[in-house]
Amino acid sequence: MSVPRIGVLALQGDTREHLAALTEAGAEAMPVRRRSELDAVDGLVIPGGESTTMSHLLADLELLEPLRRRLADGLPAYGACAGMILLASEILDAGANGRKALPLHGIDMTVRRNAFGRQVDSFEGDIAFEGLDGPVRAVFIRAPWVERVGAGVQVLARAADHAVAVRQGPVLATAFHPEMTGDRRIHRWFVDMVTGRV
Ligand code: GLN
Repeated sequence: MSVPRIGVLALQGDTREHLAALTEAGAEAMPVRRRSELDAVDGLVIPGGESTTMSHLLADLELLEPLRRRLADGLPAYGACAGMILLASEILDAGANGRKALPLHGIDMTVRRNAFGRQVDSFEGDIAFEGLDGPVRAVFIRAPWVERVGAGVQVLARAADHAVAVRQGPVLATAFHPEMTGDRRIHRWFVDMVTGRV
């Protein structure tokens, strides 16, 4: 696969920034709103936004189970912030009854929703990221953190004593928003994951 076709789940959230970042990183980027589009992509980005709203839209549009199945079959995926929450196998503080964030089971991990928000809503800082040269500017907006990872999960970055970037096989997740900084190294890395180069 020379130029991979990578979808951005476009139900809600900061879809446009990811489409632009993926294009700059060398992918053919397309929004995904329906089943036929999900079936057509080689990889999928789940953007930041509101994980409870995205969960309910996924369910209403009958995309929740098809997406879980594609992930179980090895679809490469990258989730940022709300996307990280959805890719988890277990979500703490998932929301009130009937308005809950629903796990997609892409990575064997437990995340806590709005974890940083209890201290400070939004902040940014430079953090080390395993496998990348030089620090990454990490923008956290009502971000989750990771409280438990399974044996096959690699922790790539930490902040406030918690994992904030993780990878398991072809699935990557960050609690922060690289699409907002102009630094395309994480998107480029994901494109390379989709083509099987890393
Ligand atoms: N707090 C949001 C949620 O629970 C995530 C925020 C974000 O994606 N920037 O889904």
